[in-house]
Amino acid sequence: MTGPWDADLLVVGAGPAGVAAAVMASSLRMRTVVVEAEEVGSKLRAIGSLENVPGGWSAGPELADALAADLSRHQELGRVTVLQGRVVRVTGREDRAEAVLDDGRVLAAAAVVVATGVTTLTPADVPWVDAPAAPWLPPLWRAAADGLEGRRVVVLGADRPLGTWLRAHPLAKVQFDVLFPAGDRYKTAEVAEEQRLRLDEITQVGITPAPNGFRITAEHAGGGTHSFVVDAVLTNMGSKPAALEGLTLGTDGYCPPEDQHPRVLVAGDLKGSRMQRIAVAMGDGSRSALTPYYQAQAGTG
Ligand SMILES: Cc1cc2nc3c(=O)[nH]c(=O)nc-3n(C[C@H](O)[C@H](O)[C@H](O)COP(=O)(O)OP(=O)(O)OC[C@H]3O[C@@H](n4cnc5c(N)ncnc54)[C@H](O)[C@@H]3O)c2cc1C
Repeated sequence: MTGPWDADLLVVGAGPAGVAAAVMASSLRMRTVVVEAEEVGSKLRAIGSLENVPGGWSAGPELADALAADLSRHQELGRVTVLQGRVVRVTGREDRAEAVLDDGRVLAAAAVVVATGVTTLTPADVPWVDAPAAPWLPPLWRAAADGLEGRRVVVLGADRPLGTWLRAHPLAKVQFDVLFPAGDRYKTAEVAEEQRLRLDEITQVGITPAPNGFRITAEHAGGGTHSFVVDAVLTNMGSKPAALEGLTLGTDGYCPPEDQHPRVLVAGDLKGSRMQRIAVAMGDGSRSALTPYYQAQAGTG
């Protein structure tokens, strides 16, 4: 595949889906440009324990290092270029696809794979948390155990990273007050036996800065309001699609691949809220690179 553009394939995001797309494309001799806002496999670096990725992987950072090494190998072969940057918009045109970066750069290729995954929900995204004056609150899944031991910690939401974090830190001497809305109730079953948690269903939580911590005002689902001060607040409320301008969104904000321009391919977690798994993302990424390859072979790309 050759053309007048920057590459045969643009890949936005270098998680499992984006790296798989780039490696597959490079193996097919497609000139590939990958744009990554943070670092290769950034999300994987915070996953302490893995048990569902074929190949013997048991921790995310090792897999992230292996993906970075894969990309480096293909860079050395001269077929992949990795750019640090944040894409803000993708556009499918009749003869090309374009990606616009936040610094104004515009890249063009025969097709673009968008594999930007999901981002963590913040208090501003959910109706049950009121935290207008609170500073940025870090997500639980990125938290190190060291800074939390012996401190009073509130976790907002009972999303699945709670169980993952506790399994990854079996010896951490932490005590979490987990304040969760009714919608998260079904997720608490897998951590119900955990001694290091106090699970508390609430209808509303207010958070304001206090000396050395935060004042929490919790309205309990069973009735009554409780106000107390904690050392730290971590968020664990779920995620939302990291969709880019120019993509067609479904009613849930995700980006169904079949609704996009033919030159704009979506892979990995960004496709939908189900099936968000590393191995699935890798398969998706590989497939998304094969699509423009076969279109070009057939003379339709
Ligand atoms: C705490 C936690 C534990 C998990 N545990 C498991 C597990 O045990 N097993 C499992 O299978 N899955 C697990 N997952 C899910 C798994 O991490 C995802 O399914 C997988 O990473 C999705 O891959 P992806 O490539 O679609 O997206 P991501 O891995 O999210 O990669 C997206 C990449 O795109 C980049 N990016 C985003 N926006 C832009 C932009 N505008 N411009 C440029 N780059 C951008 C990001 O920096 C990121 O590197 C876990 C997730 C979390 C949060």
